Amino acid sequence: MFALPDMHNKSGFLVKKAYSVATCCAKHYEDFIEFCIRYYENGELSPKLAQLKVGDTILLDGPYGKFTLDPKTKRDIVLLAGGTGVAPMMGFIRQILNEQMNNQILLLCNAKTSKDLLYKTELEEISNDVPAIKVAFSLTQDGKERKDGVEKGRITLAMIKKYCKDNTLGNKEFYICGPVEMIRELKQELLDAGVEKGLIKIDVW
Ligand SMILES: Cc1cc2nc3c(=O)[nH]c(=O)nc-3n(C[C@H](O)[C@H](O)[C@H](O)COP(=O)(O)OP(=O)(O)OC[C@H]3O[C@@H](n4cnc5c(N)ncnc54)[C@H](O)[C@@H]3O)c2cc1C
Repeated sequence: MFALPDMHNKSGFLVKKAYSVATCCAKHYEDFIEFCIRYYENGELSPKLAQLKVGDTILLDGPYGKFTLDPKTKRDIVLLAGGTGVAPMMGFIRQILNEQMNNQILLLCNAKTSKDLLYKTELEEISNDVPAIKVAFSLTQDGKERKDGVEKGRITLAMIKKYCKDNTLGNKEFYICGPVEMIRELKQELLDAGVEKGLIKIDVW
């Protein structure tokens, strides 16, 4: 969680908000921590965060939560992200790369347009360079760019199957992070398709 030392609410408590860590615990990331934060013009905290300068101090409290990846899992991994929901997925991808996991990984990222896709270049490079990791994007409001790896509309089961190497939902665990509606829909679709509840992990914000 983030807090700014000089930001208190009417009751005198520090204004704190939760943010997902986009890095992981590997040695390479020992000296820094990365967050991916949406800017809300009328927001309470994000405009203040956007004004921070190098050398300013903030309070970090944590880590909290159970939205974590088991590096020993033998299942293939499907990561489904909407908007800044890609933040924890970046942490997972970086962990997967650092721990040299052999599982097949699919990351599907949804955004309105290609301009709204976060980490696009880094993810495309990983997808091209690492055979076990496939990254694809789905765009809800952009009708221009259509090619392999870029789909139109919201993330669907058909899309997930299309980009999984074995074209099935079997022997996989699913991690979903993004808008509440997206999470609710995808979770229900996966359950209806026979995926066990325990294999679907979600992070709602
Ligand atoms: C576990 C967890 C992880 C998270 N990880 C991330 C992350 O990695 N990246 C990220 O960007 N966010 C993340 N969030 C969300 C984050 O904690 C904040 O909620 C978000 O950044 C908005 O905070 P803010 O103070 O900037 O805006 P807020 O003040 O919360 O406002 C957000 C929007 O809501 C509107 N709004 C506020 N109050 C009202 C109201 N009463 N009625 C109508 N509209 C209103 C504002 O105008 C603004 O448009 C996470 C949340 C959780 C719980």
